[in-house]
Amino acid sequence: MSDLTKVEKNLRDRGYTVRTFATAAEAAAYLDASIDGASVGFGGSATLKTMGVYEKLASHNTVHWHWVGGPQERLAAMQADVYLSSVNALAETGEMVNIDGVGNRVAGTLFGHQKVYLVVGRNKLTATYDEAVWRARNVAAPQRAFQLGAKTPCARKQDRCYDCKSPERVCRAMVTLWGPMMDMETEVLLIDEDLGL
Ligand code: SF4
Repeated sequence: MSDLTKVEKNLRDRGYTVRTFATAAEAAAYLDASIDGASVGFGGSATLKTMGVYEKLASHNTVHWHWVGGPQERLAAMQADVYLSSVNALAETGEMVNIDGVGNRVAGTLFGHQKVYLVVGRNKLTATYDEAVWRARNVAAPQRAFQLGAKTPCARKQDRCYDCKSPERVCRAMVTLWGPMMDMETEVLLIDEDLGL
């Protein structure tokens, strides 16, 4: 098992509730047991998709995910009681970094819900904040651009960000979470498996 104790402590010191899971299946079961009878919004997340969280929660919650229901679900997700997302990088010092193109995912982690869950695989972990920013920009964003088939220099080579000015640029905002937003409980689920981009 990876040593997640430092990042766990640093996240707790920043005010987050933190739970650690050995497997994605255990984390998905935890979310399924914890969220019931709620409206639930999803941010774009390969991690959540891999975990099958949407399908689990859909049987006993009202779920909104634009990856399933189309673009109009973004607004409904923004107004949900509970919001779920991953992050593009997590520094061992506790900062989390997310990049977005449309903005719904980063906005959803900042305001408007009773509770936010951030689900993070071990591959997102970096030693420092600077490395977290680097990972988000040079690893996660190019991989996402490639997945989307975007006509951007990073999607072609997948080696780094070129800070392009392409009309298909996928990264239009970058948000750093230094701590849970005021008046919104935020729980971080750390998973000792590689998940997402
Ligand atoms: S700015 Fe352009 S080149 Fe850089 S990651 Fe985003 S889409 Fe790719």
